[in-house]
Amino acid sequence: MIDIKSAWEELHRRIESCTKCELCNTRHCTVPGEGPIDSRVVIIGEGPGQEEDESGKPFVGKAGRLLTDILEKGGGIDRRSLYITNMVKCRPPANRNPKPEEISACRDFLEAQLLLIHPDIVVTMGNVPTQPLLNTKQGITSLRGQWQDWRGIKLFPMFHPSYLLRNESKAVGSPRYLMWQDVKELKAEIDKLKN
Ligand code: SF4
Repeated sequence: MIDIKSAWEELHRRIESCTKCELCNTRHCTVPGEGPIDSRVVIIGEGPGQEEDESGKPFVGKAGRLLTDILEKGGGIDRRSLYITNMVKCRPPANRNPKPEEISACRDFLEAQLLLIHPDIVVTMGNVPTQPLLNTKQGITSLRGQWQDWRGIKLFPMFHPSYLLRNESKAVGSPRYLMWQDVKELKAEIDKLKN
């Protein structure tokens, strides 16, 4: 039988010492993720930003604060009940998108996390985690809000909160409006898990 706690600690040690891609040269901290290991929902973002790189914690910058707000005010979802991580565990310089080779190098870590947590729902935010996990070139604008399957786990693509920071309109059909709808849909699915 797998000793989950030992396997989790070993995985974190491997991430901390990882030099599998060039992002190891510029990072201050690795950012493996945060939250309960037995969470039934995992949120996956793109990669750490500056504040995450300095603190070692995911989604603590402006986009992270917006995510917390949307989850709590839009869906009544306590972010502390979720496991939150990113597609790559080290900050891409100047907050650029991770390159395909960096995503490939880091992907095993994410998959190992998902294997150990074994959630019921995975939420991918933005193209960076959504396209590789679904093995598609389809963009987040058409995928968001539609339930998908990833190895038997429900996968729900949503916009990344940093996209909303660049689109402040709340008009019907705007990214913020759609994000609000998606959070409500996510909450409804989480509530079904409790029944
Ligand atoms: Fe290793 Fe991932 Fe960091 Fe690249 S981004 S150095 S693969 S932990």
